Amino acid sequence: MARRKIVAGNWKMNMTPSEAVKLVETLKPLVANEEVDVVFCVPAIDIIPVMEAAKGSNIQVGAENMYFEEKGAYTGEISPAMLTDVGVKYVVLGHSERREYFAETSETVNKKMLKAFEHGITPIMCCGESLEQREQGITMDWIRQQVKVGFLNVTADQAKTAVIAYEPIWAIGTGKTATTEQAQEVCAEIRKCIAEIYDDATAAEIRIQYGGSVNAKTAPDLFAQADIDGGLVGGASLKEEFGKIVNYK
Ligand code: PEP
Repeated sequence: MARRKIVAGNWKMNMTPSEAVKLVETLKPLVANEEVDVVFCVPAIDIIPVMEAAKGSNIQVGAENMYFEEKGAYTGEISPAMLTDVGVKYVVLGHSERREYFAETSETVNKKMLKAFEHGITPIMCCGESLEQREQGITMDWIRQQVKVGFLNVTADQAKTAVIAYEPIWAIGTGKTATTEQAQEVCAEIRKCIAEIYDDATAAEIRIQYGGSVNAKTAPDLFAQADIDGGLVGGASLKEEFGKIVNYK
């Protein structure tokens, strides 16, 4: 079964609500591609205006983070029910920036993964090695650990619907894209790891993205790799270039 490609933008902490609406108006016609899942993962305050602006288009809206409790005294957090109430279908979990600046760990990512599935939200779970880890030759061990802990107690049926984004930290926002070979090698290893945790059928269904300075030039080769099912795109998702990335073929 051919996996459907998924190209997601990660806006990070960019775009005020009024800027967001303008960007969606600009990108709407450019990202029209019915063969690909197109997701805009946007700051929480932009979710509702982006949903409104994206109405009638193929754009799906995702969140950039979510808390693992249902509700209560967690000042500043966003609950899963708040997201589903307005129709959010995807959430980015464990982005390296959240791991680095906001004390996110694979254990908290796992709690969020379980909560997302419970609420029918598809997680885009990020993993990736630092430059030091790559140079030490421990990339695969590190990624396997992130995947194994992230998917703890996740059922095979849930895992099949998940998205994993392989994002080498040294390639995020640096303009340095991993080579297609490097990206494919790690994405294949992630799929192997999923087959070991679950089975071949689950590994064949789960979608694995590459992220890290993806642009209109690098996307076609990257997305043509056997184990790369699309991309998680930061900087270029805020520009018209995102349309070219979505229409990479
Ligand atoms: C990201 O934020 O997930 C990302 C990959 O950023 P960039 O494309 O800017 O490297």
